[in-house]
Amino acid sequence: IGDFWHIDEMIPDFYDENGNSLFLIHTDQGEKLFDDIKESLAPNFKGGEKSFASRVYSDGKNKMMKGRLEPGASIGLHRHEGNCEMIYVLEGSGKMLYDGGEERLSAGDFHYCPEGHEHSFINDGDSDLVFIAVVPAQ
Ligand code: MN
Repeated sequence: IGDFWHIDEMIPDFYDENGNSLFLIHTDQGEKLFDDIKESLAPNFKGGEKSFASRVYSDGKNKMMKGRLEPGASIGLHRHEGNCEMIYVLEGSGKMLYDGGEERLSAGDFHYCPEGHEHSFINDGDSDLVFIAVVPAQ
């Protein structure tokens, strides 16, 4: 994890004047370290269906998690106040409701929910939806 310098030139949509963090898992060993964090289950997370499974790392302020939604599971609609959220999909596909609209997300896609905006993530596919989510405090 580190400061994401020059994000204003590379991904201008995600630039934040308070700074952007970059969290990279680039080795099998790094992925194993993340997978070694115990997966916890949150039933009806934010009012969603079934359970949201996640492995969370937190420094007490910012959160990084590897999340999993089984088919039919969802994270209910919620608004980000005091933080934002960045999601990178690793496996599967799903529907993201965002500020009254919706977008399709599948492996390799990135979603950004800025502070003050709301979203809901729904696995309407037939395999697990696995993603990395980063929630930096604002
Ligand atoms: Mn969220």
